[in-house]
Amino acid sequence: MPGDVSRILILGGTREARELAGRLDGDGRFQVITSLAGRTTGPNPIAGEVRVGGFGGVEGLRDFIAAERIALIVDATHPFAAQISANAAHAGVRTGIPCLRLERPPWDEQKGDNWTHMADIEAAARAIPEGARALVTVGRQEVAPFFARRDIHVLARMIEPPSHGVPGNAEVLLARPPFSFEQERAVLEEKRIDVLVTKNSGGGATYAKIEAARALGLPVLMIARPGKAEAVTLASIEELLEHLEAQLG
Ligand code: NAP
Repeated sequence: MPGDVSRILILGGTREARELAGRLDGDGRFQVITSLAGRTTGPNPIAGEVRVGGFGGVEGLRDFIAAERIALIVDATHPFAAQISANAAHAGVRTGIPCLRLERPPWDEQKGDNWTHMADIEAAARAIPEGARALVTVGRQEVAPFFARRDIHVLARMIEPPSHGVPGNAEVLLARPPFSFEQERAVLEEKRIDVLVTKNSGGGATYAKIEAARALGLPVLMIARPGKAEAVTLASIEELLEHLEAQLG
């Protein structure tokens, strides 16, 4: 695609997407449109153009790409956002527009960690021992299976309140990353947490909870990433920019 990259669609909802928009928008060769699902109110400011809300499946995304004369799609969505990544990959194939994925590597278990690997959210919700106090950090959209467990205590941390009721044996902690090691250690200690439940999101903004659990010798239920549609995948913004430069010649 030498010379013809001008309008770039970034599928966002992550810190990396926001940073990438800033990097590309400052480069005179590109016009950037970042797309957000609209799950959080008042998202952090993003450089360039921003649109909010679903496209209406693959067909809607394909129409958007054509109408906006998009030359490149960058899927910089969260590693657990599988549907939009599948839609992006399919829309790329159908329109002939390249689709790159920007995806941070998963966290690896380190010495001192005590992880149990979980296939999905439901498995993690089932695995919490009866009577345990669990810090659940899976986000408000997927907290329901934990709230359904009435034999445990759930401390559910999320950015915005859940849309459904919070049972009496659960409490919600509203907070937006990044979190420091000291903050995470304090939460685990003050709330007398027995087990941490987390998605393997990767990245630095939410890693301190893993370090704090390690320091306190707490077990972690680590939920594996979902399988994603195939795409050329770059692990960092720098790698993606290098790839782009190479393509531009
Ligand atoms: P998902 O299950 O993959 O997507 C569901 C639907 O939401 C998509 O089919 C699409 O609707 C719409 N959508 C998702 N991302 C979009 C975007 N960037 N722009 C426009 N529409 C989008 O996604 P999810 O897991 O609900 O996550 C939603 C958003 O939150 C993602 O953008 C993701 O980056 C961010 N996020 C997710 C997580 C997580 O753990 N899942 C964590 C942090 C941030 P249409 O089919 O109508 O186009």
